[in-house]
Amino acid sequence: NSTAPTLLLAGLNDKQLEAVTLPHQSALILAGAGSGKTRVLTTRIAWLIQTGQVSPHGILSVTFTNKAAKEMLTRLGAMLPINIRGMWAGTFHGLCNRLLRAHHREVNLPATFQILDTADQLSAIKRIMKVMNVDDEKFPPKQVLGYINSCKEEGLRAYAVESYDSHSQRMREIFEEYDKQCQREGVVDFAELLLRCYELLSNNASIREHYQHRFRYILVDEFQDTNRLQYLWLRLLAGSDNCIFAVGDDDQSIYAFRGARVGNMRDFEHDFNVQNIVKLEQNYRSHSNILDAANAIIMHNRNRLGKNLWTSAGKGEPIRVYEGYNDKDEAVFIVDEIKALHAEGMELGQIALLYRSNAQSRILEHELFSAGLPYRVYGGLRFFERAEVKHALAYLRLIASGDDDTALLRVINFPTRGIGARSLEQLQELARQQDSSLWQAACTKAGDGKPGRGLDGFVALIKQMQEESIGLTLPEQVELATRLSGLRDHYAADKEGEDRIANLDELVNAAIAFNNQEIGMQVDENGEVAMSILAQFLAHASLESGEHQADAGRDALQLMTVHAAKGLEFNTVFISGVEEGLFPHEQSSFEANGLEEERRLMYVAVTRARQRLYLSFAQSRMLHGQVRYGIPSRFLDEIPEELTKRLNSIGSKSNGYNQPVPVAPVARPQANMPWKIGQAVAHSKFGQGVVVNYEGNANDLRVQVNFGKAGMKWLALEYAKLETL
Ligand code: ATP
Ligand code: MG
Repeated sequence: NSTAPTLLLAGLNDKQLEAVTLPHQSALILAGAGSGKTRVLTTRIAWLIQTGQVSPHGILSVTFTNKAAKEMLTRLGAMLPINIRGMWAGTFHGLCNRLLRAHHREVNLPATFQILDTADQLSAIKRIMKVMNVDDEKFPPKQVLGYINSCKEEGLRAYAVESYDSHSQRMREIFEEYDKQCQREGVVDFAELLLRCYELLSNNASIREHYQHRFRYILVDEFQDTNRLQYLWLRLLAGSDNCIFAVGDDDQSIYAFRGARVGNMRDFEHDFNVQNIVKLEQNYRSHSNILDAANAIIMHNRNRLGKNLWTSAGKGEPIRVYEGYNDKDEAVFIVDEIKALHAEGMELGQIALLYRSNAQSRILEHELFSAGLPYRVYGGLRFFERAEVKHALAYLRLIASGDDDTALLRVINFPTRGIGARSLEQLQELARQQDSSLWQAACTKAGDGKPGRGLDGFVALIKQMQEESIGLTLPEQVELATRLSGLRDHYAADKEGEDRIANLDELVNAAIAFNNQEIGMQVDENGEVAMSILAQFLAHASLESGEHQADAGRDALQLMTVHAAKGLEFNTVFISGVEEGLFPHEQSSFEANGLEEERRLMYVAVTRARQRLYLSFAQSRMLHGQVRYGIPSRFLDEIPEELTKRLNSIGSKSNGYNQPVPVAPVARPQANMPWKIGQAVAHSKFGQGVVVNYEGNANDLRVQVNFGKAGMKWLALEYAKLETL
């Protein structure tokens, strides 16, 4: 049941048809979002194979994500009756990896070479800098990382980099030593994958010719976001006889910060003597309200190649604009709306929730989790899995119970306090001997030190944290842990630590939200609470990380940054946090053309929607531990009013949602309150006891009482009838 070529081409418009059936020459398809670029590229592959111009074996197709490559192969599989496994489709990194695995000997790599992600790469850089005794004040490791990657992305090795002063000379040396270290350990970073592969082709004529002979047709999607090295790699692979079919949209170039060059389009035209430039102008994805909004936004950019999109799909629904009272209100609105859509029968997988920065996802995830809506986060770690958050949680776990070995091992020497591998071994040995936790062994071993360095210092620190957290609210406890542990100072001293501190602040925010929500929830008829609020919070954090991410097969809401959404489409799209400073991101004002790149991002975001689009923003938002009062993004103003519908009126909204409170300085409870540590109390059921701990304030005070025979209990004072004795 082979699909006849004519059937394959049915439904294409004239321009698309022209593009699909171009002769064997290099071509550039330049067109706006949703105009069928990806569809044209896929159909061309099918058409080339179907008409016998090339076998799948002769095709190399570069996509932007692995997901896109998979989708393409699935679609082709459905279109064509033959096996297409011989075709190569994947991302630049994926394809280079494949080539290097096949030719690892020629590039002097072990067959089992490992790939470093960015976090791994950063620690590798820090390691080599330590060995080299480099001052990381003068040479912030993240900056070194950026330097190394951009050199590689320009196709440059350390020896080829020019250095004009002692600083750049030193940078060059670090670059060189870092590469040596990677070579010794048999690892490659992302940029190295490409560079090594480029060198493979340029240094080995026979291998190069083999692949040039093989890949007669090279097709590249999202061409506007290729960097210099990727372009050079393509050029090498194409040689003089093969042709490249490139599709792209200059308005969707959103990776300049990673070295992407729109200029590659012009170079391509020139280097490949491109005669065929096809522009597609009909959009098949979105209704015209959405499309007109996107056009109106992007019109404010100056440096454009220029094109216009139209659709015959009709106006469709207005763009819904929601103004949240605060970020929580915004999140609640979004979740309620998604629930309603889902109840009406819309698949969750057809709904995307987009945000500009990863830090925004926490509060959204929290509401989704509470509502029991399955969701999947693309790209980026989930909030509670981030290293700095895990470190802070480990300290909190030690406050709750010192005996948590995993937590102890995680932070006993982080931030570093001079506890080496040998001391740790001794500690583990002692714990084995006395059959105790590491913490107990540490207490046995340690003298009466002060909080600080060494094992004594660590034990004293944890004890101090345990003592000082008594009587504090949950957010105060979290704040205390991040501060006393030295984590804040540690990251503050790290010039690149801002993001991490922001995430620590987010953890405090999470505690505030949890506190506001959970209080009084798990109280039984005796007024007993099952766990301290800290223990409840920690359970929540570990439960939320991992298991509650919807598994692959299940219908799930799609959560991702705008960057990760490129090329995708959804029936319904929510764009959250459309506020000045957030979107456009405040960082953009410091960068040349920063605002234009933000606008292209907004254009990408808006054009993901087929039928329904929501834009939301909040009057106030917790960011970096402070309440910030946001003003609506300028991008909202750039959308003609008649395309939108305000769902609520500005400013008048006052609701019952908990208003986030700024992080209060850690406050000791009032001195005159009756529930002091050591206070003797009586409970109608548990008998007499002694107060050993308390937390919360005024109306939601909880105390921990040692009732002797009845054991240790946490009690909510509002419910428990406690008498002081
Ligand atoms: P982006 O710039 O976002 O990557 P794109 O230009 O690659 O978008 P596609 O994803 O290929 O656009 O197409 C957008 C949608 O329009 C898809 O659902 C596609 O199937 C549909 N489409 C494209 N061309 C046609 C056509 N001729 N008839 C009907 N539907 C079409
Ligand atoms: Mg596309």
